[in-house]
Amino acid sequence: MRAGAGVPAAREVSVLVIGAGAAGILMGIGLRERGIEDFVILEKAGSLGGTWRDNVYPGVACDVPAIYYSYSFAPNTSAPMRYATGRELWSYFDSVATDRGLAGHLRYGAEVTSAAWNGTAWEVETASGERWTAGIVVGAVGRLHRPRFPDIPGMADFAGVVRHASQWDPDLDLRGVRLGVIGTGSSSVQIVSAASQQVAHLDLFQRTAQWVYPRANEPVAEAVRAEMLASPEGARKHYAAMEAESLRLGEIAVSGTAEQVEARNQVIRDALAAVRDPVLRAKLTPDYDIGCKRLVISGTFYDAVQRPNVDVVTDGILRFEREGIRTTDGVLHPLDVVVLATGFHADNYLRPMRVRGAGGVDLEELWADVFLTYKSVAVPHLPNFFLINGPFSPGGSLNIIAVIENHAAFVLQLVDRVLAERVAIAPDAGSSAAFVDRMRDRAKGTVWYTGGCTSWYLDRDGVPLVAPMTLSELRAEMAEPVWADFDVRPLAGSCSAAS
Ligand code: NAP
Repeated sequence: MRAGAGVPAAREVSVLVIGAGAAGILMGIGLRERGIEDFVILEKAGSLGGTWRDNVYPGVACDVPAIYYSYSFAPNTSAPMRYATGRELWSYFDSVATDRGLAGHLRYGAEVTSAAWNGTAWEVETASGERWTAGIVVGAVGRLHRPRFPDIPGMADFAGVVRHASQWDPDLDLRGVRLGVIGTGSSSVQIVSAASQQVAHLDLFQRTAQWVYPRANEPVAEAVRAEMLASPEGARKHYAAMEAESLRLGEIAVSGTAEQVEARNQVIRDALAAVRDPVLRAKLTPDYDIGCKRLVISGTFYDAVQRPNVDVVTDGILRFEREGIRTTDGVLHPLDVVVLATGFHADNYLRPMRVRGAGGVDLEELWADVFLTYKSVAVPHLPNFFLINGPFSPGGSLNIIAVIENHAAFVLQLVDRVLAERVAIAPDAGSSAAFVDRMRDRAKGTVWYTGGCTSWYLDRDGVPLVAPMTLSELRAEMAEPVWADFDVRPLAGSCSAAS
């Protein structure tokens, strides 16, 4: 499209990053470290921080230890407790972005709605009509941010307040209210643990019980804190120790021996067995294998549901009514506030953004049957369009920050070549299909597929969209590009050779 009357001219950049969450910030840092300043990070919301900006529900925290849930080059040594709160995490990402000089590259309120390859560059548009032309686009949009709203009749008739967990109003005072929480995933467990101490009554509407790994949140020991703060080596030492500990639990689904799986399962079963009331214990006992859904980690959930002001409701939800929620047994549960802790459209990836690649190939059509991707970071027919944490990313068993670091380091190698040789790089369809087949085949051997549950890990055929990789496998996979897997062409007007 040409700039004309009323149509603003497109701004040009070498690299356009979509999203200012943990992955977008990481890309910005990586670009600056390479001396690339001609880039922009477009963020749909009004500030950075992704999930830690959006999620402000009661009790929000990250159940990966704070020192490990941080960039390896900037370990988060500031959290006083083992697990950081949502607010502490937002501050961490904000301060890293500021310290690394990203402020001038960030554009807020800029939701990318489309990106189209014009043969040499990407023409990108935002919801407000801004236009950009970028040699390279990096989609760093995250996976768990498009709320999934349950289709329950009568919601509009409810006289109280209904909020999705990720759209919580922090000014909502829960003291003395009758609270309903729908869903039993990690978000719900954190909400129930925190809110049960404030509300008059809490009904937890449970469709499926969860296995809960009981790990308490404790203050970081003074000696550890002192060592972490004393020197970068001290911080790195504790980052490495926490990485090893986290991998022992996280990687069990992928590489655990029978003994390791059994030892973990015993800890989980023991925690459940400690629930005193046998009726409540039976309600809380899942009917699928441990680890099939993403493990909930909480040292407080079972205490919370045993409080006298908490009921676990296992009858199905019939409808919302003016006064509350009616369940299939005919009971009306009177409520003032309902939290929809019902998860996310984890398989949206870039959508609803419209992406059209070489030859007008539409990503929506390309992904109609299977999410064709090369190592979760590139897509055939999309030259110079890269992803962080795309389909078949190993986010199911690994710390997502470690995953995106590996993805970003790989993408930066592609960026280097694009800029140095003025080429268009896209993975070929065959190598991408081989990667997807390899991941899907291997995933069919994991508990995510065989464990008898549904979860956000699965695609609509019930096959995991998360890769069953250990961290060392991911590192080996992403160490450097295998150029034979790519189609590399000179850009029009350039004299570099294709390989
Ligand atoms: P989730 O794990 O997808 O859980 C959604 C819950 O809502 C499930 O219990 C689901 O039941 C229930 N649900 C959905 N639709 C329903 C309906 N129509 N009626 C009744 N129940 C319904 O979502 P989440 O808790 O937001 O967690 C998503 C992921 O975010 C986690 O697995 C984790 O990776 C991440 N997370 C991480 C942390 C952390 O501390 N690191 C904290 C929060 C979230 P079914 O099981 O029956 O489908």
